[in-house]
Amino acid sequence: MKSLPRRIEKITEPQPVVEGAGVRLKRSIGTRTLDSLDPFLLLDHFASSNPEDYEAGFPLHPHRGIETVTYVLWGVVHHRDTLGNAGSIGAGDVQWMTAGRGIMHEEMPEVRPEGIAGFQLWVNLPAKLKMTTPRYQEIQSKEIPELKGEDGARIRVIAGTVEGISGPVTGIAADPLYLDVFVPAHASFTQPITRGHTAFAYVFEGEAKFVIDDQEDGTRISHPRLVVWGDGDSIKVITTEKPVRFLLVSGQPLHEPVARYGPFVMNTREEIEQALQDLRQGTFV
Ligand code: FE
Repeated sequence: MKSLPRRIEKITEPQPVVEGAGVRLKRSIGTRTLDSLDPFLLLDHFASSNPEDYEAGFPLHPHRGIETVTYVLWGVVHHRDTLGNAGSIGAGDVQWMTAGRGIMHEEMPEVRPEGIAGFQLWVNLPAKLKMTTPRYQEIQSKEIPELKGEDGARIRVIAGTVEGISGPVTGIAADPLYLDVFVPAHASFTQPITRGHTAFAYVFEGEAKFVIDDQEDGTRISHPRLVVWGDGDSIKVITTEKPVRFLLVSGQPLHEPVARYGPFVMNTREEIEQALQDLRQGTFV
């Protein structure tokens, strides 16, 4: 099969949203313009040094049927659930939480001089795993391999494999690639992506041209933007005067029905009703 470079299918501007108990963030997936990107249901970007934007945090709330992935760039998020799990996600750390049949937790950013910055991604679970046992993968920054390209690119491999180096997050149904990519000025970055998988970049610093093969013109993207690619085998990004930093994420689509109600994402309306009933009856976790 001939190798096919991916073309940009969609570029969207993140939308301001107030979530939790009053946290201001930028949402790119899970909006009116981009409802979902199978298997991804939500992408939030939070970045502020003003405590009013984040200190209210995300008090106790449930999740069922999905995975939530929290990646912190700076600052600290403290989390705690009703099963007795607790911890802190600091700069460069990742928490990949498989909610499965249900967790009740809180996620509270600490008020610090540097504020807080990071991302939360929701990954859907296939029908057969929606009621699986909850699982946490807590990855510290130092456990995340960082590859260095010849021209100064730095690639943090959180999930998936780059040039034979695999990220620490494993055993995820979506078979994800989750990279934090920095490309300096006047450099390039190419990455193979499994054919058939959904792929997007979230550009959060600088700008770059998203190109096809070695064509020189391409689409210039400045932060903050979500870039969604169509199908193919690889993506390529070229920088000019400015560096760029983006998340590069891909995953296997589920092609299953989605019944969504806030923090519950199931396959049918009845399963959502069940989740609400479990919550009312105190049998959720
Ligand atoms: Fe949560």
